[in-house]
Amino acid sequence: MKKILLGILLLAAALTLSSCVTAPIQPIPPQPVPSRPVVRGDICHVVAPGETIWRISKMYDVPMESIVRANNLKDATQLEKGQRLAVPNAAPIVPVVTLYPSAKWKYIIIHHSATDEGNSYAFDNSHRSKGWNSVGYHFVIDNGTQSKQDGQIEAGPRWIKQQDGSHCRAGNMNTKAIGICLVGNFNKSHVSSKQMDSLIYVVNRLRHYYKIPADRIMGHGQVAGATTACPGKLFPWSEFKSRVRQGS
Ligand SMILES: [Zn+2]
Repeated sequence: MKKILLGILLLAAALTLSSCVTAPIQPIPPQPVPSRPVVRGDICHVVAPGETIWRISKMYDVPMESIVRANNLKDATQLEKGQRLAVPNAAPIVPVVTLYPSAKWKYIIIHHSATDEGNSYAFDNSHRSKGWNSVGYHFVIDNGTQSKQDGQIEAGPRWIKQQDGSHCRAGNMNTKAIGICLVGNFNKSHVSSKQMDSLIYVVNRLRHYYKIPADRIMGHGQVAGATTACPGKLFPWSEFKSRVRQGS
């Protein structure tokens, strides 16, 4: 292949020389590799419950040291929920779904928040007011409200600490099911396409790693003994199931 290319280059050079002897021979510039532009910028990030500097660093592809320096943090291991952090030169958010070796997780349960707005921070506050120690879901998939992006994936403290959920009492699911909540009320509105993409991404990552069969991935209302319409009558089950099967 290299020989053929060299031959073509030599021939091109010879033709150039013979047709225009006085013109200087221009080197052939390398072809630019098409790539998706990554637009970076300084942003302000509100720390979610359980969020660590490592996670924030991964989310925005910014070194931890840069975040520490920009905020003059004395102890980066002690971030407070709700704390505002400047993140310099941040890239668009990428999902950070950390997997922990465990034989605990046998099911995945999908919920909706049954609210128009929300995020992990807001649910943490409302669940604490019920006496729980933190947001009951393991993951929250945002809908673009309350300063989060549409489709943003938040991992809560119960996931980071690998604790039981507090999202589905029926079937004793709190001890063995990963709880994922999509922000929205899907009795009256639709799951956004970005939320669905993120849900498929998280579910597939989890189900492959924990070897959770498709029939153990269900909505809250499908758990025997649960009396709820969660995650809402408009949740697109056939699209969800076929995309989980396809893996994307
Ligand atoms: Zn639910």
